[in-house]
Amino acid sequence: MNAPVKAHGANRTQTDELLERRANVFSRGMSAGQPVFAAKAKNSEIWDVEGRRFIDFGGGIAVLNTGHRHPTVMKRVYEQLDKYTHTCLMVTPYEPAVTLAEKLIAMAPISGPKKVMLVTTGAEAVENAIKVARASTGRSDVIVFNGAFHGRTLLTMAMTGKVVPYKSKFGPFPGGVWRVPYPIEHKGISADDTFEAFKWLFKTDVDPKNVAAIVIEPVQGEGGFYIASPEFLKRLRALCDEHGILLIADEIQTGFGRTGKWFAMEHAGVEPDLMTTAKSLAGGFPLAGVIGKAAIMDAPDPGGLGGTYAGNPVACAAALGVIEAFETEGLLEKSLKQGETIIKRLKAIKRRKEGRPIGDIRGLGGMTAFELVTSHGGSEPDPNAAKALAADCLERGLMILTCGVFGETVRLLAPLTIQPRVLKEGLDILEAALVAPK
Ligand code: PMP
Repeated sequence: MNAPVKAHGANRTQTDELLERRANVFSRGMSAGQPVFAAKAKNSEIWDVEGRRFIDFGGGIAVLNTGHRHPTVMKRVYEQLDKYTHTCLMVTPYEPAVTLAEKLIAMAPISGPKKVMLVTTGAEAVENAIKVARASTGRSDVIVFNGAFHGRTLLTMAMTGKVVPYKSKFGPFPGGVWRVPYPIEHKGISADDTFEAFKWLFKTDVDPKNVAAIVIEPVQGEGGFYIASPEFLKRLRALCDEHGILLIADEIQTGFGRTGKWFAMEHAGVEPDLMTTAKSLAGGFPLAGVIGKAAIMDAPDPGGLGGTYAGNPVACAAALGVIEAFETEGLLEKSLKQGETIIKRLKAIKRRKEGRPIGDIRGLGGMTAFELVTSHGGSEPDPNAAKALAADCLERGLMILTCGVFGETVRLLAPLTIQPRVLKEGLDILEAALVAPK
């Protein structure tokens, strides 16, 4: 537990002052979830400007599978900083980007010749995957899922399936984006329901011949950590094949080892045509990419893809460090173990039936989550409890993030490099905040 923050100057803390300065200059639209200003971070811990220590189970939204400032990542970054930091990949290319592309191609669960394009953010990767799919198929439309999150640009907003806070006030959105339910068995939405919705969609709204791609998160991230089953993904692949539609896996949150495989689609043994990657790819540096079948990826004309900062060399060096850290420290294996430890612990806490009631508990490898509900044994979502739990944990020195269409889900994304004692300490705090809420 952190000591209370000491006030200084007119009884105000440095955090009070920074919060006020922040509010004066930042758009209201850019809200901050936590009233904590970072001063320093290492692996799974953050220290704030008041000297308080926090265990980080959020990873800056799923970016830190290798933790804050992993030594292998930092070594590569410092080396790169001493050479050059920007030449523009589209103007004067550089070796780290080529090596990274080769590695991404070797890792991606897609057979046959593959190619890559690099950009800077997740939303950009999704946008570019759609550009590539359109260029390759000569078709325009896209099908996505309820509860999906694909980014904050206008096309990716159109593809995102949650109104408040993402979409409200920002329409109209680009057309040609259609939506079907994501299968969530424990909420009464079956795989059959999804395929029934496709049948209706193709009869009532869009000719499948106009559909370039179906985009799916194999585990929904912001939407609530719902896991698409291997059977469902196989049926989806078959539907795509039947209609000549490309299957795009958005692996921005699920990827880079979070689920115990490099990419979550590997669990299902289903090959997408294209996939997006970002977040933990570069361990805290802005980098994203699209990986896909070479013939599809080569459909755009030269100069059709790119961006000034696309594939920044420092970020590429960081990504090479991330891959090295995974390989030398067995982090895929550690992800599976972390998932088991957390799920076991959550189940034990739920069985206590004390304090805040827990609903569904789920996970794929180290991508784990649980729901807060209004009563023990019940299933009515309780978003207020999730919010209160996050605030309570923060006060006790643990950072957690909520998610879910109904805001009732808490996701746990501890670095895969976390020391077992720190993981235990974090879970102890979580348990205390669940069973004895403040
Ligand atoms: N797709 C998925 C699955 C995501 O989780 C996110 C980010 N939460 C994005 C796309 C957008 O990434 P970015 O915020 O880097 O644009």
